[in-house]
Amino acid sequence: MKSPARFLAFLPLILVAFLASTSFAQPPLTTAERTEYAQTSTHAEVMAFVEQLAEDFPIVTLDTLGTSGEGRTLPMLILADPPVANAEEAREAGKLVVLLLGNIHGGEVCGKEALLMLARELAATESHPLLKDFVICIVPLYNADGNEQMAPGNRPGQIGPDEIGRRTNAAGLDLNRDFIKAEAPETRALLRFFRSWNPDIFIDTHTTNGSHHRYTLTYSGPKHPGGDAELLEYIRDTMLPRVSETLSETKGFDTFTYGNFYEDHSQWTTFPAAPRYSTNYAGMRNRIAILSEAYSYATFEERVLATLDFCRAVLEDIARHKDEVTALLTAADARTESGSSREEPTPIRTTPLPLSEVATAKGFIEVEQDGRMVATDEPMDYEVEVIDNFVAREAVDRPWAFVLPAERDDIAALLQRHGIAVEVIREDVQVDAEVYTYAEIDRAEREFQGHRMV
Ligand SMILES: [Zn+2]
Repeated sequence: MKSPARFLAFLPLILVAFLASTSFAQPPLTTAERTEYAQTSTHAEVMAFVEQLAEDFPIVTLDTLGTSGEGRTLPMLILADPPVANAEEAREAGKLVVLLLGNIHGGEVCGKEALLMLARELAATESHPLLKDFVICIVPLYNADGNEQMAPGNRPGQIGPDEIGRRTNAAGLDLNRDFIKAEAPETRALLRFFRSWNPDIFIDTHTTNGSHHRYTLTYSGPKHPGGDAELLEYIRDTMLPRVSETLSETKGFDTFTYGNFYEDHSQWTTFPAAPRYSTNYAGMRNRIAILSEAYSYATFEERVLATLDFCRAVLEDIARHKDEVTALLTAADARTESGSSREEPTPIRTTPLPLSEVATAKGFIEVEQDGRMVATDEPMDYEVEVIDNFVAREAVDRPWAFVLPAERDDIAALLQRHGIAVEVIREDVQVDAEVYTYAEIDRAEREFQGHRMV
């Protein structure tokens, strides 16, 4: 005899089966979300996530930026509505092109997770407003080989996840010091992207373990005075402070310009203006470049969410001021083409000076412990000079062209990687020229990235 209880038991089973059959349309979860922020994604997990996103949402195109030193695919998502497949179609779309980069340093994993979440948000929201103004390219896992070297303690002091990758690529190169010499296959792939797509906006996501302070995230624009001055000042003095204000009003966390306290807390210092750093490089291409540095001593979850909020807020801010930003980019290009931005000699070495206004930096009271200063839990606001105004220490007149000896095709190849025109002279010509001769070459004792610097 059939009991009524057994018959009823079928109903929930049927219901479960029905839900399962529709669940394939649910967007994927990141590894960080699945593990309640105990873990970060491996390369295989990132690939699975981006493949599913591209399969489920027609506005997502899965492309590759290139291949890592150990042969891993560097995935790139292109999010556009209507979809675009390549640089040419992106240009034809007439929208601003954005590149968001994650995990350039293998242990700085919050950008990787945040950018996957941003991609999912853009893909799964019908007619996402940001896709009206932007074609958005996302490379969540740039240093794929460094990411796979997961181990506990790769970044001492960082609060989670349990295991993280290594800073450098497989060859031991710091990819965020490689933008000019371009020795890494990852850098060469990225420069190829810069040449073909010429992104208007570039955001590079990191994690900082410098000074103890009370900012969940710090940021920077381009610093090198060889880039367009108006664009640099707009990003540093107008755009980023505006984004910071919006974030504190809408998301309730504090952000500030990237830096570290100088010993006596009278100054807030930053990293050099050299274009071997990603955002300085993009700045010298006269494009909007923004560094995002989540705070190592915030929890992994806070860092991921802050990075996501920051990247979204930057794009929303640019969308709101699109005409202003587009005009600045167009003017910067016009100044470069006419040479008028180079009536002044071109800076080749820089000195950091304080910005004109003193600022308040939110830190902690520090006490001496075993001969070094250690932060206590007690908040303290410090009046600081912000050392973020880089001026020329040495400058040269920009020539019409440089002449290289024919045997230095290695230099020609590097210039071409940067998109600089190189022509071969096939017959003798006579020109008036300045000739520089090195009297001596003074090299640093210590190696930097496998080189002794001149
Ligand atoms: Zn970093």
